[in-house]
Amino acid sequence: TIILGLESSCDETAAALVTAEGKILAHRLATQEEAHRPYGGVVPEIAARAHVEALAPLVEAVLADANLTLDQVDVIAATAGPGLIGGVMVGLVTGKALAHAANKPLIAVNHLEGHALSPRLADPSLQFPYLLLLVSGGHCQLLHVRGPGDYARLATTIDDASGEAFDKTAKLLGLGYPGGPAVEQAAAKGDAKAVPLPRPLVGTAEPHFSFAGLKSAVMRAAQSGQYSAEDIAASFQQAVIDCLIDRTEKQLAIHDGVTALVVAGGVAANQSIRAALQALAARYDLPFVAPPLWLCTDNAAMIAWAGAERYAAGLVDDLTVPARPRWPLDPDAEKARGAGV
Ligand code: ATP
Ligand code: MG
Ligand code: FE
Repeated sequence: TIILGLESSCDETAAALVTAEGKILAHRLATQEEAHRPYGGVVPEIAARAHVEALAPLVEAVLADANLTLDQVDVIAATAGPGLIGGVMVGLVTGKALAHAANKPLIAVNHLEGHALSPRLADPSLQFPYLLLLVSGGHCQLLHVRGPGDYARLATTIDDASGEAFDKTAKLLGLGYPGGPAVEQAAAKGDAKAVPLPRPLVGTAEPHFSFAGLKSAVMRAAQSGQYSAEDIAASFQQAVIDCLIDRTEKQLAIHDGVTALVVAGGVAANQSIRAALQALAARYDLPFVAPPLWLCTDNAAMIAWAGAERYAAGLVDDLTVPARPRWPLDPDAEKARGAGV
């Protein structure tokens, strides 16, 4: 079984071909970083137009790379949300058109499920259930991952996402866009103890994350003129790590039936964060699984793979499936959120 995956929910257009056994036959990605750089962030209209131009050629390219025709593809999987709606629609409509034209089943993939299952593409020995720290541009969550479509959200952020905190810190420090890798590089040259910064919610009884107060403190530190950008970046990164570790450990202590501690999402590309999580897993005698860096940030291989897992579980969609700008992995937790979290 061969699955074609399409991704277009943010500023990366991507296509990939993956087998049901987890073999990546081809994957390609067109990043829009240059187009958005002058604005210091993703501009939705620019993104949607760029996806339109890039997607069809990428599909042709991965088919050529794998020496396959569309007829030889068995399943079409496309991101259907959450994300910037213009971009999501480009990918989903393209997926529907291909599925209709070639008479193949369509799987509408939740982008977060793509991130959540990507560790199993990287490491086929990873079994359910696992504890997942999902840290990306728009999310910061701890999830009990039980299977495709089966997630319990244990914690989420009450304000900013972790990737957002990296991006805003980069902007404040004049390190440019995209911010995560820039902050990591600057942090490597700085002193993590130089700037006193808060660790919001660390040690509290509630399970959630918060990064807004950290961001304000970074802004004050930058404006004070007392510290180098490198020292602020290093201190910021350490504060994020301390928050992530504290919250994750809290869940590890409760959920003793998990097979592994797993991290996914763009922020999981950060080496210091990976190292800290690895050490935490070791303390709990658990395997630690993190996808390779290219599989952490947005890509279509993870979408094809989520499609493969859903297809194997019989979770096929019809062509009327809508694009969704918001789409929680755990709708029950989202409903319980109410006015709070
Ligand atoms: P979401 O998946 O929540 O919809 P997204 O798709 O925009 O959001 P990803 O592509 O998963 O997010 O991740 C992008 C985020 O990861 C950005 O915020 C970026 O700054 C961050 N990031 C990437 N590399 C690193 C790194 N080395 N260190 C820290 N953060 C990083
Ligand atoms: Mg991106
Ligand atoms: Fe993402």
